[in-house]
Amino acid sequence: MSSSAQAADTVREFTHTIDGKAEGSAKSFGVINPSTAAEFAQCPDASKDQLDRAVASARRAFKTWSKLSYEERANYLRKLGAAVKERADEFAALITREQGKPFAHSQREMIGTVTWFDNISKVKIEDQVMRDDGKNRIMMYFRPIGVVGGITPWNVPVGLASHKIAQALYVGNTLVLKPSPYTPLSTLLLGEISRGILPPGVFNVVSGGNDLGQWLTEHPDINKITFTGSVATGKRVMGSASGTLKRVTLELGGNDPAIVLDDVDLAETSAKIFNGAFANCGQICMAVKRVYVPEKLYEPMVESFAELARNFRVGDGFEADVQMGPLQNKMQFDKVLDVLEDTKRQPGVRIVAGGHTLNRPGYYLAPTIVADIKDDARLVKEEQFGPVLPILKYKSVDDAIARANDTTMGLGASVWTNDLERGAEVAGQIEAGTVWVNHHIGAEIEVPFGGFKESGLGREHGVMGLHAYMEAQVINVPVKQ
Ligand code: NAD
Repeated sequence: MSSSAQAADTVREFTHTIDGKAEGSAKSFGVINPSTAAEFAQCPDASKDQLDRAVASARRAFKTWSKLSYEERANYLRKLGAAVKERADEFAALITREQGKPFAHSQREMIGTVTWFDNISKVKIEDQVMRDDGKNRIMMYFRPIGVVGGITPWNVPVGLASHKIAQALYVGNTLVLKPSPYTPLSTLLLGEISRGILPPGVFNVVSGGNDLGQWLTEHPDINKITFTGSVATGKRVMGSASGTLKRVTLELGGNDPAIVLDDVDLAETSAKIFNGAFANCGQICMAVKRVYVPEKLYEPMVESFAELARNFRVGDGFEADVQMGPLQNKMQFDKVLDVLEDTKRQPGVRIVAGGHTLNRPGYYLAPTIVADIKDDARLVKEEQFGPVLPILKYKSVDDAIARANDTTMGLGASVWTNDLERGAEVAGQIEAGTVWVNHHIGAEIEVPFGGFKESGLGREHGVMGLHAYMEAQVINVPVKQ
């Protein structure tokens, strides 16, 4: 990365994108770099009037945008992708600075972002013939829904924003997007870049606090909310969207189990699960959050995880070879520390690696491996969303499946084995939206993603995901006899 890219974001001004134009706000709030715990930039705080104007411009733009063909809209998105690609390192630097992840991981987030803009048109929306029997021709068409309100969290700010932008716009909707107040700047930059590329009003970005999110969910002229965030907020979103019967898609938290069967290669499996748990400092909805290991492999596997944790390089995302940055914000840092303190109080528990903060400014916690913890401890029951991983011993696979399913969440899960058929059979018994065999974490444009139970509502991606950004319309015409 060039030093100018790193320096640029400390001095520049960030603005909302409303009706294709830059706008500041009378109020602003500070954005903190979690690697130093110091404020490094100011972010505009949108007023209600600014939100109203963003929604009104999206409504106006919908009239023409919705009439374009899929391919015309995909072309606009590809142009956006090309412009983003040119400035990918500037984005990556900004993500590392506001989010904390290692620079190379921020670069990967940008590759994913461009992929979404480039390839969304691989998903095809087809009209469906429901009946054509000589008496009636009944067709089902899919129509864009109108103005979409998008709300994103702080863990993968641009990547998750790109999913919402690509899906909403490709099928003919317009969008008003609100990033998390912890990581707003990279999404504001995305808005800025879009100004010369997308017609005014098609894509608006407004930043602000949680109250701005609530205004979006209540807004009478927004037709659908696509929300990614915590379960608690997801429930509030659904409640306030009900006033106007908005369509909602909720991508919420997870407490993903990884079930290791007794035939695995220990070193390889431990390394892959470790990466699935500690990527982004454990702050991924579909990260491994609990590991179930058979009795006979338990001690060597715990030691293998501990060794990996001890050697994991933690630091500022701009330092060379760093594998894990800090937790993203003080609130999350305090929450994870609280769960860790509770864990330490559990009878018989062993902290076999980590278990402490780092002696430097910023929200750093050493990668932590916990053994011999009971199923009813908070670390097992709750989504920790941080670098603390419980390893649980099981006697039979049925026991492991039952315990893996004993949760209110159901986002992802994984099964680890050399016997792929057995792996798929176990996978089918786990209550989760996605179950991987021999890997964990991943999102693909063509593959629906979402949660069972309280991990969400509906799906994003694939035909199913795009249908959730549309209304189904049936046209029923008698056939002339
Ligand atoms: P959060 O719920 O605190 O915030 C998410 C967004 O909602 C932010 O933009 C926030 O400003 C906004 N918000 C807060 N209160 C609101 C309200 N009352 N109405 C409308 N919007 C409101 O979540 P977070 O802490 O930013 O993110 C972490 C959570 O997100 C974790 O639980 C994680 O598992 C989940 N997540 C899920 C997925 C998925 O695809 N399922 C992906 C990433 C993160």
